Parts: sequence; C-alpha cells; structure tokens
Amino acid sequence: MENNNLLQDGFGRKHDYLRISVTEHCNLRCSYCMPEEGIKLTPKPHLMTVDEIISIAQTFVNLGVTKIRLTGGEPLIRKDVKEIILRLGKLDVNLSITTNGILVSDFIETFKEARIKTVNISIDSLIKDKFNTITRRNYFDIVQKNIDLLLEEKFNVKLNVVLIKSFNDNEILDFISKTKNKKIQIRFIEFMPFNGNQWDKSKLVSYAEIMETIKSEYSISEIERLEDAPNDTAKNFKIKSHLGSFAIISSVTNPFCSTCNRIRLTADGKLKNCLFSNSEIPLLDALRSGESILPLIHQNLISKKAVRSGMDDDLKFQNPELFSQNRSMITIGG
Ligand code: SAM
Ligand code: SF4
Repeated sequence: MENNNLLQDGFGRKHDYLRISVTEHCNLRCSYCMPEEGIKLTPKPHLMTVDEIISIAQTFVNLGVTKIRLTGGEPLIRKDVKEIILRLGKLDVNLSITTNGILVSDFIETFKEARIKTVNISIDSLIKDKFNTITRRNYFDIVQKNIDLLLEEKFNVKLNVVLIKSFNDNEILDFISKTKNKKIQIRFIEFMPFNGNQWDKSKLVSYAEIMETIKSEYSISEIERLEDAPNDTAKNFKIKSHLGSFAIISSVTNPFCSTCNRIRLTADGKLKNCLFSNSEIPLLDALRSGESILPLIHQNLISKKAVRSGMDDDLKFQNPELFSQNRSMITIGG
C-alpha cells in the first residue's frame, strides 16, 4: 500500500481530518456528555505527552491530513495545551478547536499565533439557570463574555447547541435571533447516544422538527440554503436578512457517513475510525515501543464500516446494548 493511499478506507473515503482529544478532564459536567457517576480517568502515564501528540499529528499530516481539531474533555484545561496548540500551529494544517469557552480569554494570543481562525464553543442554553443545570456548574456569564471577546478579536465563532426535547428546544428561535446582528454560526446538533448519557429517542429533537420550528417564524423565502463545504457534517442555512447563519448536524436522523473524512485520536492514544465505533487501535503503545504506526493506521481505516460503525438502521442505533459498548462522549472528544 502506497503511503499516499493509507488514509483511504474500504469504501474509497479519504480521511484528511484528524480530531485529537488532549484530555479526558473537564471543568463542566454536561449531562449528555459526562455520565452522572463520572468516568474512570486514564492514569497520566497512559496519556499522550506533547511530543507524542505532535509526532502522531506529524505522521498524519505527512499522509495527507489537512485539518486538525483539538477537543476533549475540555482541551483548554490541560496544563501544557499552549505548547500543543503552538506546535500544531507550525504544521501545514488548518487548525481549529472545540471548547466550552470558559478559559478562552487566556488563549486569544495563542490562537492567533497558531493561526486558528475558527473557534467552536458549546453553549446549550441562553438562559443562565438552564445553562447551569445542564452543565452542573456556574460559568454562564464567563462563557457569554468570551464569545463576545472572540467576535471582537475577529475569530469565526460557531456555537454548538445540543438540542434536548422539553429542555432547550423552545430556544431554537432565540438562538436564530442571535444571528441577526452577529456574524456567528449556530450549529444545532441532534442529541446522540453514548455510554452513560441516558439517551432515548423521546429526547431527540430531529432535523425535521428543528426546521419546522424555524419555518413557524420565518417564511420559506426568508430561509436561504447555503452551500455546504465538502465533507461538511452540517446542513447550512441562513435567514437572508441576518448577518450570521445556522446549521443542523443530524447524525441520528440523517447520518452523513458516505462522505465522512474524519478520524479520531483519543487522549490515551487510541485511534477511532468512527465516533460510534468501539474498536480502537492503540497507536500510542506502538509509538512507545518504537514500531511504525503506519500499518495500524491502515488497519483501523480499512476496518471502518459504511455507516455509524455498523449501526446502520434506527433499531441498531437506538439499541443501548450496542451504543453502550462505546466510550462516553467526554473520553472520545466529539
Ligand atoms: N469541552 C469541549 C466542548 O464542550 O465544546 C469539547 C469536547 S465536547 C465532547 C465536543 C462537542 O461534543 C460539544 O459541542 C458537545 O456539545 C458535543 N456533544 C457531547 N455529547 C454529545 C451528545 N451526546 N450528542 C451530541 N453532541 C454531543
Ligand atoms: Fe465538558 Fe464539553 Fe463534555 Fe460539556 S460537552 S462535559 S464541556 S467535554
């Protein structure tokens, strides 16, 4: 196998987007992400060091990865994350980050130096009490302030909103209103099942329901369908008169697997070929024992299933016996 084809899977999908989780820790406890009883944290010696992250990332860039996203847990709470960001920023990739926003103000210059242009912030409610309920912590004002700071500093800001029935689905139009005068993108995300997050279908707010709510306020002629970027997981729209835009990520009701270009590296150095896959390849062990990681990368990609790690119909996807075999989201990285 030629190295330039190593990132291709059995269905011809080329994987040029690597998502790296740098920590399993978090300063929030979002109920859809972190199981109530907490998680068993990996002992530090089994987590990737900065040098190991950079070495694996460099290998992927050499193979053709053009985009890297940092995630977690909360990536910005890792003590040496500045060094990680700055060193990844020197690679020939488009670097971005998904964060809960709490520590963003300490990293503005670091982001700029690393050429990060877009920052995704997770915020599931515009109402302080609700935000505090879902995150089980009290950081609403800081997150709001940091979103404004990023906008002032001319970053592209995307707000990730996981919608949960009867919790925040009545805020869809309020989130859309935020796009009126601010050049932000709201990304409504369908609630996905992971180990320990008490998912059930009745809590899902589907793509169709989100659009229905938006159409109850805006006429079809006011809603513009934007062109999606290649491999985009989101369907993109805007209200014509608004500065910002919105998008819907419908992994549950309308998966986008056929154009998937993503591969994931967990903080403990395991490669995951799909968000929903429970088969993981221990890249870090191979790296530490001096073996080439190339055959493992290939093995992982070639075993990638066509759709959601084999949960290709609703029944399988909604079966707790299947989705509970996967990690909880906080240890994958979204
Ligand atoms: N701590 C960072 C944050 O919250 O943005 C990065 C990690 S978090 C796991 C990455 C993304 O996954 C967040 O936008 C979060 O909303 C999303 N997420 C977590 N659990 C989810 C679930 N069950 N369904 C859909 N999205 C989820
Ligand atoms: Fe932490 Fe992000 Fe998960 Fe919330 S979604 S618990 S902020 S990792």
